[in-house]
Amino acid sequence: MTYDIVTQPWLYVINKNSQCSRLGFYDALEQGKHLNLAYPNPIDRISVFRFILAALYWCEMETQVKMDKAKIPQAWLKFLLESRHLFEFLGEGKRFLQVPGLSRRRPITELFHEVPLGNNFWHFKHVRDYTMGCCTHCAVTGTMRLPLFCVSGRPDMKSGINGSPPIFAIKWGKSLWETIILNWRPREPLGQPVWAEPYRYNPDDDVPLLSGMTVPARLLYVEAAIPTEQACGICGEAPGSLHYTCKFETAGTLENPTWQDPFALRNKDEVIKASDISGTKKLRFDAKIHRLLPHVLNSMDLNGGENVLLVGFASDKAKFVDIWEKSIRIPDIDLANLELTALEEWNHSINSCAANTYLGKIKTKGKDRLRVLKDAVSNDLLPDAETKAGRYIPQILGDDSVWDQVSNQYSVWVNNSARVLTAGLDTRHLRDRKDIERFMPKPRLDNKEDADKGSKTDE
Ligand SMILES: [Zn+2]
Repeated sequence: MTYDIVTQPWLYVINKNSQCSRLGFYDALEQGKHLNLAYPNPIDRISVFRFILAALYWCEMETQVKMDKAKIPQAWLKFLLESRHLFEFLGEGKRFLQVPGLSRRRPITELFHEVPLGNNFWHFKHVRDYTMGCCTHCAVTGTMRLPLFCVSGRPDMKSGINGSPPIFAIKWGKSLWETIILNWRPREPLGQPVWAEPYRYNPDDDVPLLSGMTVPARLLYVEAAIPTEQACGICGEAPGSLHYTCKFETAGTLENPTWQDPFALRNKDEVIKASDISGTKKLRFDAKIHRLLPHVLNSMDLNGGENVLLVGFASDKAKFVDIWEKSIRIPDIDLANLELTALEEWNHSINSCAANTYLGKIKTKGKDRLRVLKDAVSNDLLPDAETKAGRYIPQILGDDSVWDQVSNQYSVWVNNSARVLTAGLDTRHLRDRKDIERFMPKPRLDNKEDADKGSKTDE
């Protein structure tokens, strides 16, 4: 069985007439002006696009034929066809992003964070080990994630060259070809992608662009598909045979502090990562797009009218916690004259405001009750305010006068926080509370006396 990803149809696309299809890499590039990538999961959209971009940098370098923004150079397509043996995904010989001779057998679902197994239950879809299979097309897509989106865990599993994945920011065009042009920024030294030359860099080496963009965080070997009538657990097609297992091992420590990922969002030198909000009880700070916006504008060399796709992947060691995406449309203005101070202050002012809605303390058994109340009110009302305020982002960039309307979106949260949390409950509040307490069911009685009374009443 052979399967080269240059000609085999694994890549999901949507045409301009809204029809979806599955194409080989070659066909997708040839028709790139008339289609776009069609992956509902942003992990795949970013991973597959990054593979395409790296492959084209490599084509330009190897063929010495320069990028032509009008259309993809025929010499590149010809070169890809001739190099098909490097993109062989199955078969006995050398395989694309895979290593023979591994020993640690794992279910194929290790390639897909959203179908976790074992005791990692808290996901939309949960399967038992080794019972869910996937088709070869989906296994290719899953493999594309390995250079970008990996969690870390035992035994000695590390999360790739970026460490835990950064927030990725990509300019997203109306077609695949437009997206390629918008993000076309090859930088020297290019080096070689891992399908052409094994990765050989230490964590403190300067890593060339193509090696760093393509190095997988795991050593992988996809085991043969087994005949079955079952449907693929990822795409739902039933091709007649599915992969159930793979060999899956650590690739060692790849995290490299000098590596600058071309798509990682940065604040000066610091790479910005998505935070795990599940353990903090601060769900109000879901994805703080307003916090990220100044960094997007500072670091991305944007032009008016462009679209930015932001993708955050939050993990807690071995656990995949959250994936989110956000598209930001940049208004058609001259960004060179944009004053960023107000945007930079936005996050700061929300934090200050949150601090001010907390004015007193009521201690109950070591807990600060007002603090708990304040968190509850903020968690309920702040995400709503931020979603509404976020809709003004394109206007904010183009017109300062919108700020009053943005501030207004926070008024419900601020008013309610103030009403609930201003220090001191008066005697009427306390009496009302006692009245309510009396009529509440008490599933667990705290002391013996109450328990006795309860049983008497029952008689
Ligand atoms: Zn599938």
